[in-house]
Amino acid sequence: MNWLTNFVRPKIRALVQSKDVPENLWEKCPSCSAMVFHRELENNQRVCPHCSHHLRISAKRRLEMLLDDGAYDRVALPKPLSDPLKFRDNKRYTDRLRDAQNKTGETDAIMVASGHMGGHPIVVAVFDFSFMGGSMGIAVGQGLVTAAEAAIKAKAPLLVVPASGGARMQEGILSLMQMPRSVIAVEMVREAGLPYLVLITDPTTGGVTASFAMLGDIAIAEPGAIIGFAGPRVIEETIRETLPDGFQRSEYLLEHGMVDMVVDRRELRGTLIRLLTLIRQPAPPEAIALPVATTTARAKGKASNTNDPKHGAGTIDRKAAE
Ligand SMILES: [Zn+2]
Repeated sequence: MNWLTNFVRPKIRALVQSKDVPENLWEKCPSCSAMVFHRELENNQRVCPHCSHHLRISAKRRLEMLLDDGAYDRVALPKPLSDPLKFRDNKRYTDRLRDAQNKTGETDAIMVASGHMGGHPIVVAVFDFSFMGGSMGIAVGQGLVTAAEAAIKAKAPLLVVPASGGARMQEGILSLMQMPRSVIAVEMVREAGLPYLVLITDPTTGGVTASFAMLGDIAIAEPGAIIGFAGPRVIEETIRETLPDGFQRSEYLLEHGMVDMVVDRRELRGTLIRLLTLIRQPAPPEAIALPVATTTARAKGKASNTNDPKHGAGTIDRKAAE
């Protein structure tokens, strides 16, 4: 290193690069190859206006899209051991981690936040695929456990939005241990009597599919998302057969009963709010005719129905109905 490389070159670079123009004003749709203006794409929630292909989005953008007014509170995640195996391939794992942290501004591939959806409190855990392929290591497992605990504390439903290539190989067996760990997190939410929803996005594969991602009380998928355990090429080579069209895509899984619904990203928020309303404020038609018998049961502590004047007067909740 000398004066030329350390001092002169950065100065020249700074002069040559203009800062005001973003690098990519146009983005190419990976599905139909159309060039889409970035603002048009953003306004359309990163869904291609020509072919409706759903492009990948960051965890932050996902939270802003889903929650009321795009507002949320971050749930602080404990800092786990980094690089427990001192792993190194052609690069040190610590260097890979640092690069991903610099690129995304996040400490790991998961973001946990609490907020409201249609007025319902909710805890959301979102994966960021741009952070080492959304891979699940100790930090992500810890994030899922923390999200479950936050949901239980707030008596709120838990929504997890995976986008992941699976377990993080740089953490070896410790990353595989996050599979049972995340299942326990889901079980905790279930035992607390709270709904657990999963919004499967592109791609959801490997150890993530094989654990919490397929355990949702309600499983929603974005159109065209790859959902599977092993990749199609590996399966084809193993079984020596050609796989059907659309194999491992959301629509294929819907047809085969693996997910409950496939919902366009632009209708996701509305759909989720409708589901939350149905789950949290059940109002069976016959219950509306029985206003008197329910008052005491509701007054005992099920306050959620009474907040809403629309549902308050004539509704009974599940407990009261039994
Ligand atoms: Zn397209």
